[in-house]
Amino acid sequence: MTCPVCRASNDASATTCRRCKADLALVVAVEARRVGLLAVAKSALATGDCDAALRHLASAEAVRGGADVERLKAAAYLANRDFPAAWRTYQRGQAS
Ligand SMILES: [Zn+2]
Repeated sequence: MTCPVCRASNDASATTCRRCKADLALVVAVEARRVGLLAVAKSALATGDCDAALRHLASAEAVRGGADVERLKAAAYLANRDFPAAWRTYQRGQAS
């Protein structure tokens, strides 16, 4: 994980930055919430519940966007047979 203060990279489990000693506990908690939301979205997608998957992906994106969210959103749109949205989202994921 990248320190929001000094941009040093740290272990994902670090609670203080190795360089500037900034408290990373809140960042770790927020990232854990995002990982949880992505996991719930993946299982919703696996059961074919595209709407639930997209809702959880939107929540994950509100925490922090990224290529991983865009890829899952593209898969959810694809499973929902919304091909134009899947294509647009896939292209956004490639650009980020
Ligand atoms: Zn730092």
